[in-house]
Amino acid sequence: MQGKERWLERLFRMQRNLYIGGDKIGRDDERLGPVLSVVGLTYDLARDPAYAELMTATSHLTGERINRFCHVHQSPEDLHKKQDMTRMICQKVSGCVRRCMGVDALNAIYTVSYEADRERPGETAYHENFKKWLARFQSQDMMGCCAQTDVKGDRMKRPHEQPDPDSYVHVVERNREGIVVRGCKLHISEASIADEILVLPTRALLPQDRDYAVSFVVPGDWEGVKQLVTIHNYRRRDHFPRGFDAGATDSYVIFDDVFVPWERVFLCGEHKHGGILALLFALFHRHSYSGCKPALGDLLLGTCVLAAEVNGIGKAKHVNDKLAEIIKITELGYAAGFTASALAKPEVYIPGRGMQPYGPGNYIPNSIYCNVGRCLTGESVFHEMEMLADIAGGMPATFPYEGEFVNPEVKDLARKYTTRCQNISPESQAQLWRYIGDVAVSGKAGCAMFGALHGGGSPRMEKIGITSQYDIEKRKDLVRKISGMED
Ligand SMILES: Cc1cc2nc3c(=O)[nH]c(=O)nc-3n(C[C@H](O)[C@H](O)[C@H](O)COP(=O)(O)OP(=O)(O)OC[C@H]3O[C@@H](n4cnc5c(N)ncnc54)[C@H](O)[C@@H]3O)c2cc1C
Repeated sequence: MQGKERWLERLFRMQRNLYIGGDKIGRDDERLGPVLSVVGLTYDLARDPAYAELMTATSHLTGERINRFCHVHQSPEDLHKKQDMTRMICQKVSGCVRRCMGVDALNAIYTVSYEADRERPGETAYHENFKKWLARFQSQDMMGCCAQTDVKGDRMKRPHEQPDPDSYVHVVERNREGIVVRGCKLHISEASIADEILVLPTRALLPQDRDYAVSFVVPGDWEGVKQLVTIHNYRRRDHFPRGFDAGATDSYVIFDDVFVPWERVFLCGEHKHGGILALLFALFHRHSYSGCKPALGDLLLGTCVLAAEVNGIGKAKHVNDKLAEIIKITELGYAAGFTASALAKPEVYIPGRGMQPYGPGNYIPNSIYCNVGRCLTGESVFHEMEMLADIAGGMPATFPYEGEFVNPEVKDLARKYTTRCQNISPESQAQLWRYIGDVAVSGKAGCAMFGALHGGGSPRMEKIGITSQYDIEKRKDLVRKISGMED
């Protein structure tokens, strides 16, 4: 298994195609340091024997031990481990692990490329090509990201109806060597530091949308790919370092007439499978949320309890109510993901036909449980922040800069007037308020909250998934019988 050093070497050799605030930068720019630390941990932990069981898996392609972020789930147990691995790392980095999009996308493309080949036997070799790409990806322990979300234009129009045909990424040319694609994928987390960008459709597609039914993989600096990147770092600390300094990035990934050779194309024109691929990535990704959101709940709970202690309200009833509420959301989200793993099967939901065997035998988490868990925890994000704000009071929003705590003129006054509790040192109290400032009232926190609400699809899309797949008729029958209704 190759480690973090080889990944960083590859990144630092890449072409400069990251545009940030008027600069064009390489991956060695210091502003990317915090996010490289987050993903770097996914490499370091995989080499730590204490975490080997969670962090690594046996490749079904090569039999080699690989990083679990490169693995195709072969059993419910694999999905349980992915969930627990995600929760464990997110606790350590105090937020998103930044590497789940890649593993979720590769699981989805692996599954759908197989079925797309079966539609036109002998004419396409998507799945074999994907397996070859995947074996290389696994052996080099590559970092992947997923580019799904399109510009979309008018939300009420389908891709082929848009006034601007480039509102969704699409094929503009097919030739013997490959295809040429044009368009832009938005909000793509960690495209800036990924070895490979996995591209797949964003929605259900009609036959007229066939040019939009396209999936492929290209390196992050591939010819014609331009990334407009936003970086989400916390405020710089010079005197009172954090326990872990996390960062994040998101890119508008522009495909400016990009050539993709056939061996890197895994869907091209099969509109039905395009729609399934969109749903399947969302499904795997919602399952990942059943690991990260509980970790955020763990951190939120610890933060609220400590803030309550510093404020001397640890025993107040309204605090107790809030702690119970946080635990409820956290563990119901985890339980939903656990059940989704336990009920996993090589099956997907096909509209009008119900659950159907799908793919070459890899395991897909149960859709209902993924969606209810993700929807519950996603919609709770702002409510959770409200609970924290209530318990903490205004302190994290206006806490003085750290410079005031080292300036001889005012440092004693700053210390005195920011201290509330006698049992915890003033320095620790200050670190807690700074931490809450980071995770609740910073630019990075705002971005994370939007991501936690919308990632994997906005809540409405999850509700459509839930109600379209749940057996509602069966529940009506229960009531017809028990109430004595005649029809
Ligand atoms: C921080 C962050 C990180 C992200 N990371 C990634 C990533 O790594 N990869 C990736 O592919 N995506 C990523 N996303 C994108 C995310 O999946 C989308 O934001 C989400 O799917 C919603 O899409 P949208 O932003 O286009 O919003 P919209 O689709 O415009 O949604 C806005 C509103 O319009 C509603 N709406 C949309 N269409 C219709 C319709 N036809 N009828 C009625 N209502 C409609 C929605 O329900 C919602 O209420 C990320 C987003 C964020 C904020």
